[in-house]
Amino acid sequence: MTTDVRTAVEETRRIFSFDNSYARLPAPFQLPQRPAMVSAPKLIAFNRSLAAELGLDLEGASEERLAAIFAGQELVDGAQPLAMAYAGHQFGQFVPQLGDGRAILLGEVIDRKGQRRDIQLKGGGQTPFSRRGDGRAALGPVLREYIVSEAMAAFGIPTTRALAAVTTGDPVYRETMLPGAVFTRVASSHIRVGTFQFFAARSDHEGLRRLADYVIARHYPGLEAQEKPYLALLRAIVARQAALIAHWMAVGFIHGVMNTDNMTVSGETIDFGPCAFMDAYDPAKVFSSIDQNGRYAYRNQPAVGQWNLARLAEAMLPILDSDIDAAVEMANGAVIDFAHLYQTAWLQRMGAKIGLSNAEEADRALIEGLLDAMAQSGADFTLTFRALCDAAESEDAAVRACFADPAAFDAWAVLWRERLARDAQMPAALADAMRRANPYIIPRNHRIEQAIVAAVANGDFAPFERMVEAVAKPYETRDSFSEYTTPPLADEVVLRTFCGT
Ligand code: AMP
Ligand code: MG
Repeated sequence: MTTDVRTAVEETRRIFSFDNSYARLPAPFQLPQRPAMVSAPKLIAFNRSLAAELGLDLEGASEERLAAIFAGQELVDGAQPLAMAYAGHQFGQFVPQLGDGRAILLGEVIDRKGQRRDIQLKGGGQTPFSRRGDGRAALGPVLREYIVSEAMAAFGIPTTRALAAVTTGDPVYRETMLPGAVFTRVASSHIRVGTFQFFAARSDHEGLRRLADYVIARHYPGLEAQEKPYLALLRAIVARQAALIAHWMAVGFIHGVMNTDNMTVSGETIDFGPCAFMDAYDPAKVFSSIDQNGRYAYRNQPAVGQWNLARLAEAMLPILDSDIDAAVEMANGAVIDFAHLYQTAWLQRMGAKIGLSNAEEADRALIEGLLDAMAQSGADFTLTFRALCDAAESEDAAVRACFADPAAFDAWAVLWRERLARDAQMPAALADAMRRANPYIIPRNHRIEQAIVAAVANGDFAPFERMVEAVAKPYETRDSFSEYTTPPLADEVVLRTFCGT
């Protein structure tokens, strides 16, 4: 009785109710690693609503305490900090061991909805996987990841989340000296395509099987009862990635580094490095300074996604079937399926953007007709679709103004209205539905850049805070945030983004 009571008291004192399943996996899945010490941790941002969703008991915690926790200085009760092992294809080149070089998993909590979530510090110091890296993160990329991952969540796109950001008080050395920071990321897990590749590269079939069982139990419960659970797992991951990438395309998101180590098996967007949203629609758009051949250009994302999933399928061959020919056939079938899964998801998402609640195959040409006209006119992706919502219930003036050649829009609009007439929706309801598929606010690159410059150069975090507020409700027309809706002026255009690692 007494012991029970004491346990209960201790339980209530725990601010994170950790249940660390990955820490229970043996090496080489993970290696224990404590976060490094820093000079002067200072809290920049803390996501209270996400903390509540995770059931973290931090309501009364001071800023100093939060800074200490999210800089990895105070190791909260129950944390079992570790670095995860993984491999990956980086720009097509296979690296058999990457692993968390600057990320430290504190542990896992079960959130209010019963979902298991990882809490990870990014920039928490060196690990056994750091290779030549310093294990640190610079403030700029931390702020970018904070803004963009929260924007993605607000769009309803599966993504890792931002729980906190702190500055460390220590400099990090990149091309120049920059303020160091730590980003706290929440993910439904940090298991990547590259995690499977890690075990495959070592011919560790037992490890592969153990990983696959773990992923099924954590992300795809029920599949263990299928006749071929690992094939079912591969198919399920393919389906989630197809849906995810179609969703990215529908908001003009360019990930920028779709290496296999940056692709989750949960189907969440992860690793926001040189990512960016398009302003003017250009299917060949690339922002990343390290992507010189445009491998990860906007229009290449579905093909690259499928290529990455082919690497996953390859890694899983040994556990798909003991007969290699049978295994190859299964793997091929699963990867080939990506194409129609993606195409179907794309058609639904893009159809919704032009007001079709149930787009059909024949509507593909209509959607592509608009995109072609936008590309030729250099029309702003987000503004055009948002203005199209107005055109659905009133006038074309705003959307026409997005086109250098408004006549091209007029010609398309005739076909569009013929198609809409078939669905016979009331204009106001139609426009409303379209506004839920076409954001008013996206985290435009030049605005992110301005927020970063203010923070890094002047220690002014107000633009960052305001932007976090702006992107939290992206579909609502909020005039007070209208400065975030406009494309960059000529001198604000950001041509290149950097990973900053
Ligand atoms: P990324 O391009 O950020 O996805 O990182 C690719 C790999 O490099 C991962 O294994 C990272 O953990 C590692 N890495 C990136 N930046 C650093 C750093 N500053 N120190 C150590 N490892 C790093
Ligand atoms: Mg990465």
